[in-house]
Amino acid sequence: MSRLIFLFAIGAVVYWLLKSYLRQPPKKDISESSEDMVRCSQCGVHLPKSESILAGGEFFCCEAHRREHAERHK
Ligand SMILES: [Zn+2]
Repeated sequence: MSRLIFLFAIGAVVYWLLKSYLRQPPKKDISESSEDMVRCSQCGVHLPKSESILAGGEFFCCEAHRREHAERHK
């Protein structure tokens, strides 16, 4: 039983490492494409311009926030 828990722990660590590795792009890419950071008009989070959603001259971090913002300013 304890061996099962050990294997599970290993699996969790491997999963976590892979996840954090995949989330961070290699440093080389960052310097190459030092692109503009924009701010989500809904929640204020900063994100790369290429990952943002542009609507009505304002940037958003995701489609849901674009919609929320549009609803609020009808
Ligand atoms: Zn947002």
